[in-house]
Amino acid sequence: MSVKPPRFGPTDTIPCDENATPLAIVGIDLTVTREQLRTALAAGHAEQAGQPPLADIDVLDIRREIEGQLAAGAIVAVDDETPNVNGRLTPEYAAALDAAIDRAYTLPAQPSIQRPRYRNGTVTLQTTDHGEVTTPEPGWCAGHDGEYVGRRSEISHDGNPIEAGVVTTRHGPGTIMQAHVSHAPHLEIRPEPHPILSVHLSFDGDLGPEDGRNLTRALRIAAASLDRAIADLAHLRGEQR
Ligand SMILES: [Zn+2]
Repeated sequence: MSVKPPRFGPTDTIPCDENATPLAIVGIDLTVTREQLRTALAAGHAEQAGQPPLADIDVLDIRREIEGQLAAGAIVAVDDETPNVNGRLTPEYAAALDAAIDRAYTLPAQPSIQRPRYRNGTVTLQTTDHGEVTTPEPGWCAGHDGEYVGRRSEISHDGNPIEAGVVTTRHGPGTIMQAHVSHAPHLEIRPEPHPILSVHLSFDGDLGPEDGRNLTRALRIAAASLDRAIADLAHLRGEQR
């Protein structure tokens, strides 16, 4: 097949057994010939006793009819085989089949939300690899409520954000600097023995003289904020200025 034909549908999701609990929606693209489409549509139209006339059926209903016929053909064949196959399965093989289906047709669990417990200068957090972990909670940490549960090495104490903004006539308000004190005490590959200042600077734009002065003023304010944050960081680390 050298040219890929155009793709249509799926128009609707087709329930294969309305009386059973569904596990998954299986997507499938079938490349078919005109003759196969003709057969499927003729079969569907015959089931409706030829009503309404083909010329009166809208495009989506034509596709629904054909998709339904193709799906019915597939699922009837599977259902016919189901009693035979299930009757022959050993419990071990049935379990292996279910394990394969679970791998292929279930979604990874959603990460759960942290419910931290703070006590006596510590915080107890859930981790995906070490269960509950209790770690010292520095006074500057903004807390862990609402975080996702992750690995122990990903535990990070983050201070309140420090921000500096700029307003230019051309670009309106924007943030040029964001920073916060951060400490990930359980990092393994690159250990972080002391708190650090995490800094993000951003500005990109063309300016006239007025906006240029707005920007330099904002940068001086950002630099002053960073000076204070760095002094606080040195103090946290027990360093003298
Ligand atoms: Zn913390």
